[in-house]
Amino acid sequence: MKLSHLTEIVKNVATTLTCPKCGKRFAGETVDVVDITGDRGLFSAHCLHCNSATLVAMSIRNFRQKIAKRERQISKVAVGKISPADVVEMKNFLDEFDGDFKKVLAKPQQKKRVE
Ligand SMILES: [Zn+2]
Repeated sequence: MKLSHLTEIVKNVATTLTCPKCGKRFAGETVDVVDITGDRGLFSAHCLHCNSATLVAMSIRNFRQKIAKRERQISKVAVGKISPADVVEMKNFLDEFDGDFKKVLAKPQQKKRVE
């Protein structure tokens, strides 16, 4: 599992957990991962309100599925936006580009004056 995923899961776990002693929600930075095996996670949480520590075992299946679903959507968007034609166009542009940004940026303005 990626570290960024782990961090997100811990954040998600923290928002769903409440302190068994005082009932307040745990803040993200007070929840630590003890162990993750498959879809089961063991977390230690420290309550800032009543200063009690607790050990929580819970399923992280939903969080993992949520992250996996979002990653699929992101990769779809990225793939959909860049077509081979775009790559060719960019390559052609770079081949012709002489490094003069002023010329490139000035182009649309010149068009406007003609109209
Ligand atoms: Zn508490």
